[in-house]
Amino acid sequence: MNIRILGAHRCESETSRCASLLIDDTLALDAGGLTSTLPISTQLGLKAILLTHHHYDHVRDVPMLAINFFLHGASIVVYSSSGVRDLIKDHLLNGILYPQFQEIPASKPTVRFETFSPSQAEMIEGYRVLAIPVNHVDTTFGYQVSSTNGQMIFYAADTGPGLSDCWKQMSAQTVIMEVTVPNRHEEFAVSTGHLTPNLLSQELRRLREIRGGLPRIIITHLDASLENEIREEIEAVAEAINSPIIVAHEGMHFHL
Ligand SMILES: [Zn+2]
Ligand SMILES: [Zn+2]
Repeated sequence: MNIRILGAHRCESETSRCASLLIDDTLALDAGGLTSTLPISTQLGLKAILLTHHHYDHVRDVPMLAINFFLHGASIVVYSSSGVRDLIKDHLLNGILYPQFQEIPASKPTVRFETFSPSQAEMIEGYRVLAIPVNHVDTTFGYQVSSTNGQMIFYAADTGPGLSDCWKQMSAQTVIMEVTVPNRHEEFAVSTGHLTPNLLSQELRRLREIRGGLPRIIITHLDASLENEIREEIEAVAEAINSPIIVAHEGMHFHL
């Protein structure tokens, strides 16, 4: 699998994009930074978008991608919980804010919604995808994506502390997870369902206990204005747990 990080932040600026990553230019995980980072030809090659939850920084490019698909007579499948699907239908693709691409053109609608239930697995474009609930807003799924040759990646989405149940279901060799704010904002992080470097450290120690080792850890969803502070604190965590932690950036890619 070829993984490309399109957006590694929780906010947009001239150098930062919101949450999005690509698998083999076929599956997109979250749609926070899809259209501003990809040529139209690559956008049109996408087969499916997997949405982790309804927050705007993760769904904002669904309408922008849909208009490009619509104009080319193409269609895309959007996977999410039923709650996220309903919110997008009611608030984004509602015929007021933007067209109802799930209904037009009538012969072959541009957007087709499919839903996951918690801990459900589906085959999507040859990948096995497992939706694992995490602690953020109701309902937030992390997605474990497995290729036919056994490579696996887990994208944990936005998540606050308390990932033990998730770690028990997850078996990927590479885990992409969030750290949003530095340690001094722990109260904010806990109340909004996010991680600081210290909270990350606790979750990784739990993961190591449960799994007997740590997978490759890649961090995204940083607040761009606090990035230097967050990076320094993540370095300290990596030293303390004696295991490398990679901080993602826009355009980063790697193979599994
Ligand atoms: Zn977010
Ligand atoms: Zn969120």
